Amino acid sequence: MTDFTVAGLAQELTAGTLSSVELVRECLTRIDARDGEIRAFLEIDREKILADAAASDARRAAGKALSIYDGIPVGIKDCIAVKGERCSCASKILEPVKSPFDSTAVARLKKAGFIPFGRLNMDEFAMGSSCENSAFHPTCNPRDPSRVPGGSSGGSAAAVAAGFVPAALGSDTGGSIRQPAAFCGITGVKPTYGRVSRSGLVAFASSLDQIGPMTQNVTDAAILLDFMAGFDLMDSTSLPNPAGGWLKAVQGAKDLKGMKIGLPKEYFASEGLSPAVAWTMEQAVARVRDLGAETVAVSLPHTKYAVAVYYIVATAEASANLARFDGIRYGARAESGDLIESYFRTRGQGFGDEVKRRILLGTYVLSSGYYDAYYLRAQKVRTLIRRDFEEAFRVCDVMLTPVTPAVAFHFGEKSDPLQMYLSDIFTIALNLAGNCGISLPGGTDPVSGMPVGVQFMGPALEEARLFRAAKVFEQ
Ligand code: GLN
Repeated sequence: MTDFTVAGLAQELTAGTLSSVELVRECLTRIDARDGEIRAFLEIDREKILADAAASDARRAAGKALSIYDGIPVGIKDCIAVKGERCSCASKILEPVKSPFDSTAVARLKKAGFIPFGRLNMDEFAMGSSCENSAFHPTCNPRDPSRVPGGSSGGSAAAVAAGFVPAALGSDTGGSIRQPAAFCGITGVKPTYGRVSRSGLVAFASSLDQIGPMTQNVTDAAILLDFMAGFDLMDSTSLPNPAGGWLKAVQGAKDLKGMKIGLPKEYFASEGLSPAVAWTMEQAVARVRDLGAETVAVSLPHTKYAVAVYYIVATAEASANLARFDGIRYGARAESGDLIESYFRTRGQGFGDEVKRRILLGTYVLSSGYYDAYYLRAQKVRTLIRRDFEEAFRVCDVMLTPVTPAVAFHFGEKSDPLQMYLSDIFTIALNLAGNCGISLPGGTDPVSGMPVGVQFMGPALEEARLFRAAKVFEQ
């Protein structure tokens, strides 16, 4: 193998210099060598994956490959359903659950011949920024195993960064694709809300959640999103607009001439910005100007409320979504002669501390006495945040910002939940507004040697602009 990317592997598979079984064996060898230390995977059904690979090779030999990508493995975050496989959201309460169906995103990848590869670790129910909230074990950052890989899609980011799989799927509710991508030095896309069906994605906060690709580079992200995106009858919030064509946008990307790139002042003036990130952003701004873009100062004045609004809206939705996990319908059950007592025990033992904290907070902000004071006000401020973006996108095509205030932190470093929440400041507003964003490597911190990401943010439905800007920047 000369190139462990989706595009590169497709070439080798097509040329016949590599078989899918050989590719899958190579992934397993790499995992055996290093995943004991990194712990990106919760589970891998080796026999099934090898059988899928053999079936792919047989199709190709018969001239019936489903696409040029037939036989390429993609790691799957543990909250995205794959038929017959465990779907635990890294939670004890769903530990026994196997999914009876494929999520739409996975079904569409399978239709092109991609092979779902293993269950990737995450923060329990996607609540967290470090993978430390997994009920089973944390995952380490392959660039420095004493540091977190980010979260909640930490397993996905680590598996791609360690070269275990060429690509993975993550989900992003407030940054869970973009932040771990930045911490591990890979690329991740949060599509426009409604672009990728949420059918088969276990809901955390339904008005914010999106599935997206996590890859070695921009081209691979475009390839995966081309297959996954588009209207789906199974998700009433999925958008009817034409989707795809992003690989073409990437291939056509030559320079940034004619592109206006907004620099939101609130994202650069933040006091918490570390020197490594500030320095990387300075370089990035100079670079996009060299590449032909015009940079313009813009403002997103309600940014300072984004974290507070998110932790009201997301917890409110989570408290409702997670009510279904009661030990009766499916999942783990703590038996008791008394039904109510069984609910208490099941949920008491099945959920971790962070999930309980959010259910409590969400229930509180929705309660009749506090609904107007918290939930309703948060929804109003959410509208103001969305309008900020609409205003800013009147004068620019995309925005360029940091992804995180600092590089990947050490395990246990952010033990106070509020401190952890505040580190989501640059990713959260995008979800609240429903827009699209991409995180990609922007440089390396000379002190820690850790990767630093940069983010391009685009208006709803304008992924093509993101891909163009990101591809040119990457080159
Ligand atoms: N870190 C944020 C949280 O803890 C975002 C998580 C996500 O995007 N799933 O909620």
